[in-house]
This record gives sequence, C-alpha cells and structure tokens, in this order.
Amino acid sequence: MNTIAQNIAQIRTQIPQNINLVCVSKFHSQEAILEAYNCGERLFGESRVQELLLKYNDLPKDIQWHFIGHLQRNKVRQIVPFVSLIHSVDSVELLDEINRCAAKNNRVVKVLLQVHIAQEEHKFGFSPEELKVFCNNYKAQEYPYVTISGLMGMATFTDDTEQIKREFSSLSRLFSEIQSSKVFCEETFKDLSMGMSDDFPLAIENGSTIVRVGSAIFGVRC
Ligand SMILES: *Cc1c(COP(=O)(O)O)cnc(C)c1O
Repeated sequence: MNTIAQNIAQIRTQIPQNINLVCVSKFHSQEAILEAYNCGERLFGESRVQELLLKYNDLPKDIQWHFIGHLQRNKVRQIVPFVSLIHSVDSVELLDEINRCAAKNNRVVKVLLQVHIAQEEHKFGFSPEELKVFCNNYKAQEYPYVTISGLMGMATFTDDTEQIKREFSSLSRLFSEIQSSKVFCEETFKDLSMGMSDDFPLAIENGSTIVRVGSAIFGVRC
C-alpha cells in the first residue's frame, strides 16, 4: 500500500498548476491530514460540521477548510467564522442563512452553487432549471456577505465514462452560460468544482478548476 505522500505525489502529476486540489479528509484522522499538510497541501474538505470543528480547532491555522457536504441551516453559524469555501449551497434558504450569519461575523463568505447533474435521486443540488430561475431572480444587493464564485457538481456513481463525461460537460456548459450572462460578478465567478478520486482527470478535461479527492489520497474511509 502507498503512503499518503506517495499518493499525493502521484495525483499531483495529473493536476495542472492552475487547478486547485482539495484533499477530502472526512472520516480520516488528524495524523493523516498532517501527513498531507507536510507534503505542502493546504486545502482540505470536510462534509460534517462537528468533525470539521474538531479538526479546525486542533490543526494548523493556515489550512483552508472547504465544506463539501450537505449543510443544514441550523449549523451554518458554526462554520461561517472560518470556512474558506462552501461548495454545497443547494437552496436559496441556505444561501440566505449563510449571508445572515456572515453579516453577523462581518465577513464575506465564498460559496459555490451545487447543481444536480447525476442520474441519482439522493444527490443534493439545484436542478439546471431551478438554477436558471435562481439566476433570473438574483439580486446581488440582497447578498452583500456572500460571494458566489462558481458551481459544484457530482457525476453519477457509474463505470460508464461516457455518461460521466456527458454530465461533466453539461455542467461545464451551464457554468459558461452563467458566466457570460454576467449575473454574478465576472471577477469572482470563476470556479467549477467537479471531479473526485475516480473521475478527476475526466473532470479536468471538461473544464474543472477544483477537484475534490479523498480516497485516492487517504485510502478507503473507515
Ligand atoms: C467524499 C466526497 C468526495 C471525495 O470522494 P472520493 O471518491 O473519496 O475522492 C468529493 N466530493 C464530495 C462532495 C464528497 O462528499
């Protein structure tokens, strides 16, 4: 079995310089995170609030924590003071709550809108149609404490690479459409978070700017 350092070295060869690697450390120990940290990694992704709070408290303060899981509204205030990017905004109500908590912290929080692109019921996110409605109604002045900096999506869990490719390219197209519509600030609406351990090279080919890689770095989750 490879070490975390070996895994990272291998994965880094497949990721161009201008693309961000989020090391998805959910369910993995602080020791494992430090091993990746000591390789120079600074972006870590977590999907549960309690686990994130413990790790944030104990680990080096120059880590940038990304929240990637489904976020309940009543937990937003716990992560808003320090979170670096929330990938998983899947409703207007959640965005409202982030804006409200961020205002209280006098901090602008960066977020991505999660889009449901997979052919699976259980994945969260706006449908492409819902996203278009949201964009049409969006008023930047209603959200002074959030920066909407792009989109996030997860492909279907399948071996069918053609299907994954179709899903990534459809998200990429949607991203470009929204970008050129200029609904969101051009300087900041720049990120497309897609690609995980099994499909990140395909995601990069299709325009991803942030990949979220867990098991390929840390091994299978316990
Ligand atoms: C767990 C998770 C990942 C990482 O998945 P791997 O297959 O282990 O790389 C990426 N994105 C999200 C949203 C996740 O929940």
